[in-house]
Amino acid sequence: MATFGIDLGTTYSCVAHIDDTGRPAIIKNRPGDDTTPSVVYFESPDNVVVGKEAKAVAKIQPDLVVSLIKRQMGKSFEITVHGQAHSPESISALILRELADAAGENLGEEVRDVVITVPAYFGVAERNATRKAGEIAGLNVLSIVDEPVAAALHYDAISAGGTKTIFVYDLGGGTFDTTVIKVSPEEIQVVCTDGDHHLGGADWDDRLAEYLLEQFLAEHPGTEAADDEEFLQSLAAGAEDIKKQLSRMQSRRFNARFGGDTSQIEVTREKFEELTAELVERTATITRRTLRTAADRGITEFDDVLLVGGSSRMPAVTAVLEGLGLKPRMHDPDLAVAKGAARYALIESIKVHLPEEGGEAPAEVVEEVAEQLNIPVEKVRALAGKRVATVVPRAFGVKVVNREGGREHYTIEHVLRANTPLPAETEPQRFGTAYPNQIEISVEIWEQSGSVESEALEDNEHIAEGLISGLPPLPENSPIDISFQMAADGLLRVHAVELKTRQDLHIEVQIRGGLSDEQVHAARTAVARYNVSA
Ligand code: AMP
Repeated sequence: MATFGIDLGTTYSCVAHIDDTGRPAIIKNRPGDDTTPSVVYFESPDNVVVGKEAKAVAKIQPDLVVSLIKRQMGKSFEITVHGQAHSPESISALILRELADAAGENLGEEVRDVVITVPAYFGVAERNATRKAGEIAGLNVLSIVDEPVAAALHYDAISAGGTKTIFVYDLGGGTFDTTVIKVSPEEIQVVCTDGDHHLGGADWDDRLAEYLLEQFLAEHPGTEAADDEEFLQSLAAGAEDIKKQLSRMQSRRFNARFGGDTSQIEVTREKFEELTAELVERTATITRRTLRTAADRGITEFDDVLLVGGSSRMPAVTAVLEGLGLKPRMHDPDLAVAKGAARYALIESIKVHLPEEGGEAPAEVVEEVAEQLNIPVEKVRALAGKRVATVVPRAFGVKVVNREGGREHYTIEHVLRANTPLPAETEPQRFGTAYPNQIEISVEIWEQSGSVESEALEDNEHIAEGLISGLPPLPENSPIDISFQMAADGLLRVHAVELKTRQDLHIEVQIRGGLSDEQVHAARTAVARYNVSA
């Protein structure tokens, strides 16, 4: 019953398991690296290459390479390569397959039971899509876990016991999030979370690549370098390399060559930080917001500030956090999430055997797991008893009509707020009918889509609806009560009652636009047909 944790990152992914010393360990990929670029190259209609090689051809054959697919998860997005249509789920499935196959080969053991991590602010649709990607890859997805929760689980494993409050600053390749978590021997509890899913290391690379291009063009005006895919690819790769080196060094040189023209472009850390200051500042704004939310919940001190995600290695990150009075600590920033996910996978695999009504894991299960994994029985029991409590990742509300100066417009009134502890149940909130003689009431459920709560329609996404009909003509502003309920697994239910007739409506939110079971099945067959390699 080996179980695995997979960090399915925007730019890099990583697999871990619990090794036979009972510790989480990374499983290397085929080229022997800890992490694999989350890049897919459709080399031919039958062959797919995932990882380093794929990343190397990204700018040369952009039509055949897909990167940053995580940013599309949960959206209705389609991409056609070699005449075959792909969804974000099926592309992610190709990455997962390569990760699982390579890890399995490396260990000499099939990779089947997995936990996959997602950013904490991922909404219901994105989580669903991630789970389906796992299914399409032929994996058994035990659970989906928040990246900061996984990081906290790893932290818990390596730090001395007791109850700790930690701040997780996670700056990856394509996404950023901040999470406040309480860790105790019994429980991992998310206090609040925030983030921006369009901010990550790739943005730092872009700024630097632009600068390299500008410098090259300034030295060689009149060249067509800016239109040459291969040249741009070399700048993009060079920018990422230089960025990483500038985390350790003060200055680097880049040799750019196009046609017969060459330039040696010097980049100092200072210049790099100046080019990207606005990006770091965006993380600071979100960090401040998270600190305020945590303070509203009575938390103003942190035992540790964990840096997660490869991009948190940039010295500017530490500097900006210190400026906010935090004392960041780096520990395994690229690998902590996968390692924590491996621990979570173990917890989940034990929980499968727990009695429904709660209570302790049966001794024989604990002993069997302990023996298989070569871990002390007490350690397995402690893990099995660990609860993970999370929060509502984003606000949910209903669409309402507003009238101002005789003009009508729609806004979203949020009922279930972000960061409410799960499971959550709101008090009924009072709404009113919009028009005189209304005989039916349409209830539309919307989910916050931007990183801050906003009542504007465009900052929210319509996720479900229902209708109360057959009402006697009601006067305008007749009362309707609406309450929201979200289960620990994120399932959302809405209850609306028209108070005069007491007619009511229950909506169980089935996410729109996700793949149907048939589509998952078809994608699974399509993905299985590919020959996937590194
Ligand atoms: P992750 O999604 O956590 O794997 O983050 C990967 C991102 O971290 C990529 O954008 C990398 O370029 C970036 N990264 C990795 N190592 C470093 C480093 N030493 N300095 C700056 N950025 C890094």
